[in-house]
Amino acid sequence: MTSPLIIGNWKLNGTRQKIQESLSILTKEKIIQYKKHIDVAIAPPIVYLSLVNDYLLKNCTYFSNQTKHKYIELCAQNVDINLSGAFTGDISAAMLKDLGVKYVLIGHSERRKYHKENTTYIAKKITTVKKIKLIPILCIGENQQDYDSGSTQLTCAYQIDSVINLTGIQAFKNTIIAYEPIWAIGNGINVCPKHVQSIHEFIRQRIALHDTHIAKQILIQYGGSVNLNNAIQLLEQKDVNGLLIGAASLNMNTFIQIIQTI
Ligand code: PGA
Repeated sequence: MTSPLIIGNWKLNGTRQKIQESLSILTKEKIIQYKKHIDVAIAPPIVYLSLVNDYLLKNCTYFSNQTKHKYIELCAQNVDINLSGAFTGDISAAMLKDLGVKYVLIGHSERRKYHKENTTYIAKKITTVKKIKLIPILCIGENQQDYDSGSTQLTCAYQIDSVINLTGIQAFKNTIIAYEPIWAIGNGINVCPKHVQSIHEFIRQRIALHDTHIAKQILIQYGGSVNLNNAIQLLEQKDVNGLLIGAASLNMNTFIQIIQTI
């Protein structure tokens, strides 16, 4: 299994100044050093990707095989389905790549809810992102009602199957899944790690119905009120291969502390 992947999702937060301050904390105290056993990425608002990338290239790199690598990577919070053309206001996967992005969040519950992104649109985004050789992170998870009625597995299966039905199981090769129960996002609810493990195991089994090799390899992150107190317990679960951290990543000191404890 690969290294756990920890991503800070800054959502619609930050100003140029605030982001510069956060980034300077990273290097001032030399807090996040290159750690071989974990992968770290930051997902700032798209307009600040360039600013963050320039900073990371200057301050957070190492050399391997004579090539410069960032040890903190960039993740985009969103992407459009078209690669270029007359699509006013859109941002393509090719442009994200040009800005130094490695990962792209796709189908986050906030986009499904506020932008009415449906499963077809989400599957198309995965195809586009893979074409450009970026790594999609498919976000899935049930709402409160589904959870209360015991339909968590049903919802997750539907969200996975709809991508497979539209694009084939190969869509999940080198793709990441983030399980984020909507009822636990942004509200400090501590989801029981054993429950998280059971859903992650279910997700892996669902993929295995189509391809056991992909199922074994696929990295499954957890997201939903991850903080300093619950991060380790969550990561200790067998099928939890990373964390997608929202609110707690806005405070750079907290984000760094979480990474240091891993
Ligand atoms: P949260 O957000 O950590 O603030 O709950 C997680 C997410 O939505 O990715």
